[in-house]
Amino acid sequence: MPVPSESQPVDELCRAANLIGVSAAAALPQRGLELCGILQSTLDPQHQLDLALKAARAHLPISGLEFSPAHGESPLRAGNAAAHLTRYELVAERHPLGRLHVFSEKSFDTGEEALLQELLSGLPYPLRNALSYIEAVELASHDPLTGVQNRRAMNQALVREVELAQRQQTQLSMLIIDADEFKQFNDRFGHNFGDEVLRRLAATTASSVRRSDLLYRYGGEEFVVLAAYTGIDDACLLAERIRAHIERIDRVADHRIRLTVSIGVSTLLENDSPRKLFERADDALYRAKRLGRNRVQAG
Ligand code: GH3
Ligand code: MG
Ligand code: MG
Repeated sequence: MPVPSESQPVDELCRAANLIGVSAAAALPQRGLELCGILQSTLDPQHQLDLALKAARAHLPISGLEFSPAHGESPLRAGNAAAHLTRYELVAERHPLGRLHVFSEKSFDTGEEALLQELLSGLPYPLRNALSYIEAVELASHDPLTGVQNRRAMNQALVREVELAQRQQTQLSMLIIDADEFKQFNDRFGHNFGDEVLRRLAATTASSVRRSDLLYRYGGEEFVVLAAYTGIDDACLLAERIRAHIERIDRVADHRIRLTVSIGVSTLLENDSPRKLFERADDALYRAKRLGRNRVQAG
């Protein structure tokens, strides 16, 4: 347990057994402060865990560490699991960060346990910074309504994917998906219902594309798929699969609905720019709308 200093008391929470909580970096014991310094060199929680294990092994026979973030992301692991497990709850300034498992071949005596806790008191601050950083990056690149990546992320990926395809001479295709007459859902059942339909549309599209395809919400009721290593024929098949899956949605919440999309497809040509690739897909989408909606057009 980190030693509480008179001037800067450790969080109340960490008075409970096996709780590593800190309320001020300045109050850390010496070994905790050292680890804290080492971990501040990176904002990658996995790298931090690797570094923490390495630093702890200099003092104690630890087999491995496992950190399970409080907000449900998948656990991070460094080293190996072993017969003995010591469990800690990590807390920084009263915010629970998650659970840390420390694995060892044999159980620690009281002195070793105190040393372990002293060391690990250096973990919560840098880990909290790394987790906050990841959350901020996630928020900046994702659409909060549907959870898929946003237009900003698409613009960055489009430049990157076009460069990559041209350098490696591979195929790249783009789909622009626009919900047909979407306005009617808002007009008939309200904006919240429209939001729910958009979530369903995004989820259905996400489950219709391959793992290697990239899906973005480009605007209100418009989505973009970037399909690497995919030529025009396969891109049209993919678009047709998405169109058909969405057409099958016939109920959202308590309402029976008819939901369709129009899709414009384009593929990268020699010396194409990201803008040209986008414009051809957009022109094709426009044609799909003019031809009566609920269809795929290649541009
Ligand atoms: P078209 O077939 O020509 O595409 O018709 P449309 O009604 O889908 O197209 P239009 O561009 O006229 O309208 C788009 C509608 O999408 C209007 C807008 O209120 C709605 N919309 C855009 N973003 C959101 C959103 O985040 N939530 C909700 N509920 N509606 C949205
Ligand atoms: Mg639109
Ligand atoms: Mg529309």
